[in-house]
Amino acid sequence: KSALVWFRRDLRAFDHAALHHALQAGGPVYCAFVFDTPILEGLPRDDRRVAFIHASLAELAAELEQMNGHLIVRHGDARAIIPALAAELDVATVFVNEDYDPAAIARDEAVASTLREAGRDLRAFKDQVVLAKAEVLSQAGKPLTVFTPYKNAWLKKLNLDPGLVAPLHVEPYAAAFAPGRGTLPSLAQLGFDEVDLGAVGVTPGMTGGAAAFEEFLPKLAPYGTARDFPAVRGTSQLSLHLRFGTVSIRHLVRTVRELAAHGQAGDGGAVWLAELVWREFYQQILFHFPYVVRSAFKPVYDRIEWETGAQADELFAAWCEGRTGYPLVDAAMLQLNRTGFMHNRLRMVTASFLVKDLGIDWRRGEAYFALKLNDYELASNNGGWQWAASSGCDAQPFFRIFNPVTQSQKFDADGAFIKAFLPQLGQLNAKEVHAPWLAVGKVHDYPPPVVQHDVARARTLERFAVVKG
Ligand code: FAD
Repeated sequence: KSALVWFRRDLRAFDHAALHHALQAGGPVYCAFVFDTPILEGLPRDDRRVAFIHASLAELAAELEQMNGHLIVRHGDARAIIPALAAELDVATVFVNEDYDPAAIARDEAVASTLREAGRDLRAFKDQVVLAKAEVLSQAGKPLTVFTPYKNAWLKKLNLDPGLVAPLHVEPYAAAFAPGRGTLPSLAQLGFDEVDLGAVGVTPGMTGGAAAFEEFLPKLAPYGTARDFPAVRGTSQLSLHLRFGTVSIRHLVRTVRELAAHGQAGDGGAVWLAELVWREFYQQILFHFPYVVRSAFKPVYDRIEWETGAQADELFAAWCEGRTGYPLVDAAMLQLNRTGFMHNRLRMVTASFLVKDLGIDWRRGEAYFALKLNDYELASNNGGWQWAASSGCDAQPFFRIFNPVTQSQKFDADGAFIKAFLPQLGQLNAKEVHAPWLAVGKVHDYPPPVVQHDVARARTLERFAVVKG
């Protein structure tokens, strides 16, 4: 029976659940991608993610053509386009990989219902995670809201069933592809600009994903320590590829487990695998507790009164633009603004600074990251922000407040990261670079601190006191 595979955040032609199952059913199998206007509306013309998707689609289309298939690319509202395309091609079933973003769930429900009215099916498969939705629960059948028990249960499941990460092959079934020719509209036709992704160190597509993983593998063993230092390239930078499915999560997990089994993953192997589990942890939190999109995971934290008004707006702008006067915070925000990436340690530092030094609602920071991060993922971003605001699912008490100077001294000791983004601090020594206000007369074009950390800390303790009542 003929089928349509609708690609979304799974832009690859190997180890692909929906493609595997559609082809296995016999075909002919058509492939499509929709530049979905409800998602694109509101994005800036030079959005790197759109450029990344566009370049990744060019590679995907070429790869499908190699296997005698083709990629149909449309631009419009997917809720109308997919059912229309299914009718045009007269396919019985539309195959997709599940997307757990609440907006995507709503969209897929709408598409499924329109398809159903025409006697067609939407079949969805787990693909972007190893364990989805409610697959990992406590012994009592409850969601696990603390990471370590979740991780232990996750690992146990995978150990019991390594088939969970077995590849879902495509190529052996290539005879089932419907031949044809696809066309890819230009970025200009879609209303977007060309972006030089190479300039920010990003190579799109399956080639880019594979290269990033190759580059990372020698860094896997020391990952446990190297990952905390933003001046060092100690992490994989695979988050963008995981976001758009240009790598396969099964392939990543399988490879790391195989290396570990041969004693080649060092201490870092388990630490890195745990990061991949964090990604799934936040996805299942979003699945079980969809209200986190708007509210604190721990409802009592919604009682906190955040700073508002003109002064708060000015502080928020200073944070966004990297001019808070705290070098590590500012360098991190400049990294985000200029490259679309921010190191994990710095996401924690900047988020904490916004919430606990400036007293600004974490949702404002969350929205700013969502706009700017190339790897923006609702579940991880929300989880990270709620962690920073202490309102999320972890046991850290709210009174543990990051000190932006101490963090700087610890994780960018010689100021190499800071100086890369703030060359005006280049003359400062390893002591002054974390607190330029100490270097009287040596710094000219850098602002004084917008708040004093000690004062802000005391105010935060008062502000957060409502959660105790
Ligand atoms: P690596 O260190 O190589 O980790 C490997 C992979 O594990 C990552 O690619 C990512 O998929 C996953 N991962 C690592 N850390 C986390 C984590 N804490 N939570 C969830 N998954 C994790 N990650 C996103 O992918 N999208 C986001 O929008 C996002 N927003 C964040 C916001 C805040 C406030 C914080 C504190 C963290 C956020 N993270 C987000 C998590 C993390 O910072 C990034 O995944 C990581 O920095 C990406 O770099 P990497 O690929 O080199 O990571």
